[in-house]
Amino acid sequence: FDMFVLAFVERLFRPTYKKDDFVLGKKLGEGAFGVVYRGTLANKPSSKEGDLVLKKASEYGAVEIWMNERVRRACANSCADFVYGFLETSSKKGAEYWIVWRFEGDATLADLVQSREFPYNVETLILGKIQDLPKGLERENRIIQTIMRQLLFALDSLHSTGIVHRDIKPQNIIFSEGSRTFKIIDLGAAADLRVGINYIPKEFLLDPRYAAPEQYIMSTQTPSAPSAPVATALSPVLWQLNLPDRFDIYSAGLIFLQMAFPSLRTDNGLIQFNRQLKRCDYDLVAWRKSVEPRCGAELRRGFELLDLDGGIGWELLTSMVRYKARQRLSAKAALAHPFFVREGLLALSFMQ
Ligand code: ADP
Ligand code: MG
Repeated sequence: FDMFVLAFVERLFRPTYKKDDFVLGKKLGEGAFGVVYRGTLANKPSSKEGDLVLKKASEYGAVEIWMNERVRRACANSCADFVYGFLETSSKKGAEYWIVWRFEGDATLADLVQSREFPYNVETLILGKIQDLPKGLERENRIIQTIMRQLLFALDSLHSTGIVHRDIKPQNIIFSEGSRTFKIIDLGAAADLRVGINYIPKEFLLDPRYAAPEQYIMSTQTPSAPSAPVATALSPVLWQLNLPDRFDIYSAGLIFLQMAFPSLRTDNGLIQFNRQLKRCDYDLVAWRKSVEPRCGAELRRGFELLDLDGGIGWELLTSMVRYKARQRLSAKAALAHPFFVREGLLALSFMQ
């Protein structure tokens, strides 16, 4: 009840917009389901408030607006700052959904990881300066820890809200210049299990490069999309049974892997890795055994990074990238992993 009152009051005081209130700028991206532009508020073109990103979407836009409304109320800081969403019907091309966010920054994690400077470019963004520490594995490990912590923190808030993102990849993680943290974007493939919105996963919405092997978030035995009240009553149980959040954890694990191994940052590198891992029955330890004896210096350096502090990085990675969803850590459990404790060695000896 409180939620509804809050939502109503919030809506009452929030400004409403229509297409003519915005001026479109440069195109930022174009997917199968929409086009994304930079833009401004027509009456505030040069203010910080007017600096926006707009997505024109097809029928899936309705779900994305719904998810953004929910995120803004339940876990605002984990995702890009949502401004407004509306249906434009005057268009001759039929129904068009428009979704508006504040412009968070120029770089996604995909852009940053592709740079030769990675991960030092991220360190500069987060800290606003270069550290005195010498460059090397330890420092790189610390930066990657910070990125993973921020990503898992955002995922934990989404999952606690009952939302599974289902399209976690570096392209959908934006660096917010305002808060100096990474935030999640693109809720177009997300599912809200508490109310059954977009309950049946649309297989074609999933990115095969980052998708966990189960592909379908719910097992095929799960009954088809229940009506909203039924879903509300059932979903906590289904959540326990199927652990749909672990789909995102697998994708986050692949991002961790890409940060540790530069050769897996290209599309081809990742696709080849996926093929190798499948051949090893999704057993990362078996994959390591198969590649490590004959690997080059670059791959070896990645293993060295993950082996720091008694191998807690490797331990975390292998607890995220697993075939069985129930064997993967939740976002909350991953955040409590000793990898994120500053004195890693101390934490490990404490565990033993
Ligand atoms: P798509 O459905 O095309 O993948 P996204 O929501 O992922 O749409 O947005 C496409 C791109 O637009 C992102 O990869 C990012 O570069 C940029 N972008 C999206 N939202 C924001 C935002 N709030 N601030 C800055 N850039 C954004
Ligand atoms: Mg995207």
